[in-house]
Amino acid sequence: MEPGFIGLIISACTGILLLGWMQHRHNQQVYQLINGLQTHKPCDEQFQALFDAAPECIKLQSQDGTIERINSAGLEILETGIHSSIVGHSIYGVMAAEYHADYRRLTQQVFAGGIGFMEFELVTFKGRRCWLETNAVPLYDEHRKVYALLAITRNIDKQKRLTQQLEEQRNRLNTIIDSEPECVKLHDRAGIILEMNPAGLSLLNADSAASVIGHSVYEFVCDEYLDRYRALSENVFNGARDSMEFEVNTVTGGRRWLETHAAPLLDAEGRVSALLAITRDIDERKSNELKLRSQQQELAHMCRLSTLGELASGLAHELNQPLCAISSYAESAVLLNGAHSCNEIDKVNAILTKIVNESTRASGIIKGLRDFVRKSTPQPQAVDVSNLLKEIINLMESERRRLGIHFSVTVPAVISTAWVDRVQTQQILLNLINNAFQAIEETPEVNRKLSVTVNESYDQLHISVRDYAQGISEQVRPHLFTPFFTTKPQGIGIGLSLSRGIAEAQGGQLIYQAADPGSCFCLSLPCQLS
Ligand code: ADP
Repeated sequence: MEPGFIGLIISACTGILLLGWMQHRHNQQVYQLINGLQTHKPCDEQFQALFDAAPECIKLQSQDGTIERINSAGLEILETGIHSSIVGHSIYGVMAAEYHADYRRLTQQVFAGGIGFMEFELVTFKGRRCWLETNAVPLYDEHRKVYALLAITRNIDKQKRLTQQLEEQRNRLNTIIDSEPECVKLHDRAGIILEMNPAGLSLLNADSAASVIGHSVYEFVCDEYLDRYRALSENVFNGARDSMEFEVNTVTGGRRWLETHAAPLLDAEGRVSALLAITRDIDERKSNELKLRSQQQELAHMCRLSTLGELASGLAHELNQPLCAISSYAESAVLLNGAHSCNEIDKVNAILTKIVNESTRASGIIKGLRDFVRKSTPQPQAVDVSNLLKEIINLMESERRRLGIHFSVTVPAVISTAWVDRVQTQQILLNLINNAFQAIEETPEVNRKLSVTVNESYDQLHISVRDYAQGISEQVRPHLFTPFFTTKPQGIGIGLSLSRGIAEAQGGQLIYQAADPGSCFCLSLPCQLS
């Protein structure tokens, strides 16, 4: 046995302990180690023991590929217990054909004095394919001529198949994400976008990933949503899921409405490594919502005008009263013009005060009307419900007198303020009271009563409008809130459906409650939070 060979094998066996953690980039170190140990010359038995005890496959091969020597770990990998089945035979006989060319190159490289690393598949004696990783170095004789290739080979089948499986899973996932019609994105705690699929890029009108990936998500979120988005990100990095609707500035400059559902992405240790968000385009839905809202506002406005039309003659009468009073007071004042006695001057002053009072009353009615018909965007505000009821009663006063209705209003002495839009709430109550008046019109005088009662429970105010008229038949009740349902010859049938829509949009509700005799509608409104 060549002395150099023994030294090399010893060095290789010693190296094996290190090779567990060695990668191909450590070949240089293996080579140095082997060369460094070349001077050792242990006896053949000692070598054989080390060679066979090595946990990794060690083989010696000639330039044409013939295996000259192989240890037990090598035979194990080949799934044979017989040396002669492989020693003296070509390595190419047990190597999958697709790796032959590369392995030949590696062999040439080693015999030219280089080192090599390669991964390939072996076909064992049982016909099984098995992935191996081999580090090959040249062996020199005393004339510094390469006479063999020494390879230390590891079974990496499990690791390779696991990597392949992971790769396949990753590819599958990437294909799903890439073909997903909704935006899938990942960003870190600071908001830096780590990944975004093509659907996401097109939501931002970005024609390349570079204009989005690596940028901060806060560059795209519109200013008015930044605080809410930061809160969402904070929640997700604290382990919670969150969602929101917001607008973004696209790469090309326009704005777009998005809805995002975000969840934490955990690493192997269970720490939140990124925010994963699925985001969809809700631009069309939002613009439809806006259109619908403005149509509803328009409709509500038309209804207010129509209600006012119904009350017009009564209101004219209501206005006429202070105007008549003003004119007759003014006439009296003219007669007293030039008065000198204290008594007469006092009379003039009293008349002038009455004129001022009546003018204030008339302008109060006009202001109430103007507020009621004004087109305005609904705005929640603190509303004192008893004041609101007083204003409505004023508007309905002449109609009440005409019909001879006994009107009672009960409001607790201490009551919370409502958090609603003033005009819209006025509209609901006016509609309920007007409906009740119309029902009462058909009723004998004894039942011409209307009671409005206000109660409070938890965080809501409840306003009941109860009349004692003919009531609502069982057939009509299911249709009360259906748009355009009416039993009146001149009715439009949108009062109740519109009122319910307004109540719900304000966070309240409007329901019908059976009453005998008559009908009762209950409006619930949110209270102002203290
Ligand atoms: P309209 O008043 O134009 O008919 P509404 O939506 O306000 O439209 O009312 C729908 C229907 O509900 C009315 O036609 C009527 O049949 C019924 N209704 C509403 N309020 C009362 C009430 N207080 N008493 C009896 N019927 C009522």
